[in-house]
Amino acid sequence: MKKALTLFVITSLIMVLAACGGNNGGNTEVGGAKKGGSGGSAKGSVGISMPTKSSERWVGDGANMKKEFEALGYTVDLQYAEDVIENQVSQIENMITKGAKVLVIASIDGESLTDVLQKAADQDIKVIAYDRLIKNSEHVSYYATFDNFKVGVLQASYLEEKLGLKEGKGPFNIELFAGSPDDNNAYFFFDGAMSVLKPYIDSGKLVVKSKQTNMEQVATLRWDGATAQSRMDNLLSANYANDTVHAVLSPYDGISIGIISSLKGVGYGSANKPMPIISGQDAELASIKSIIAGEQTSTVFKDTRELAKVAVSMVEAVIEGKEAQVNDTETYNNGVKVVPSYLLEPVSVDKDNYKQVLVDSGYYTEGELK
Ligand code: BGC
Repeated sequence: MKKALTLFVITSLIMVLAACGGNNGGNTEVGGAKKGGSGGSAKGSVGISMPTKSSERWVGDGANMKKEFEALGYTVDLQYAEDVIENQVSQIENMITKGAKVLVIASIDGESLTDVLQKAADQDIKVIAYDRLIKNSEHVSYYATFDNFKVGVLQASYLEEKLGLKEGKGPFNIELFAGSPDDNNAYFFFDGAMSVLKPYIDSGKLVVKSKQTNMEQVATLRWDGATAQSRMDNLLSANYANDTVHAVLSPYDGISIGIISSLKGVGYGSANKPMPIISGQDAELASIKSIIAGEQTSTVFKDTRELAKVAVSMVEAVIEGKEAQVNDTETYNNGVKVVPSYLLEPVSVDKDNYKQVLVDSGYYTEGELK
């Protein structure tokens, strides 16, 4: 009887412990030699905190890093917070508790991680900011990203070229969209784009009929496509009942898709009412298909495989106590320090070069684009 009771207690304890190690609010994937803490593999555990699975790019980012880290002998704790700030904070806290050696974080809100990063620092856990800058913390060792200003320049230069603005054509009507106001990148993209567009707006060759040209007016919280779609609905009904929109600056493919739905709703995309020129970012599958179908016009490809490699090399450097390779020590001031950064090059993609850039490089297969 006593034996049976002991067995029952032990079995229950094991079950409770197993449950505790499980999901804590978002999607959890633990890989590597053994699940959980730093003792799980020879090299220890890396916590990867990603913003959301709702956008393909972050799914690719997480998967690429996981693969790279595991190949090097690390255990990986990869979590997605579904764009809920509190989820991200508690997922990171959990990684700290489980003894991660290093954290790689793509923040949802760049200003909401100060406290949790302090907790990481108290445990001597180093942090790499991934793609998005983490603000207001001294505890960010490095920043792996793309040349974000250039992303905006590429988006706007594409519109400039297709409209023939350099050749003096115009005036054309344009509407502007920007990304999430809590993402530092959104300002870089918008500033980069406006560095190209503003002179034309000032000279009257580009007309923003809504007059909405400031970041506060054009931002899209959480990069949400549905939010962009309803803003576009409003812009069209208020300003274009008797006029045509010729171009739309869109910062991200998911936003472009929302804008296109809105445009289709009022008849754009037909022979007598062609789609405006519409930019994007991330070369997401749905948008490449849209580009092939002649709806979205361009996107900006950021090779997440390369970004994963940069982040992995930064993690290895901090673990080994070495300096990571960086190529920018001026641009990314997070409010407390300038975070040493490695910036990768973004590439503009449209229907003329998508095969070469995306298929030939193995990013997508021809079949995936059908
Ligand atoms: C990333 C972009 C992405 C956007 C929305 C930005 O921080 O740099 O690649 O399109 O977030 O997810």
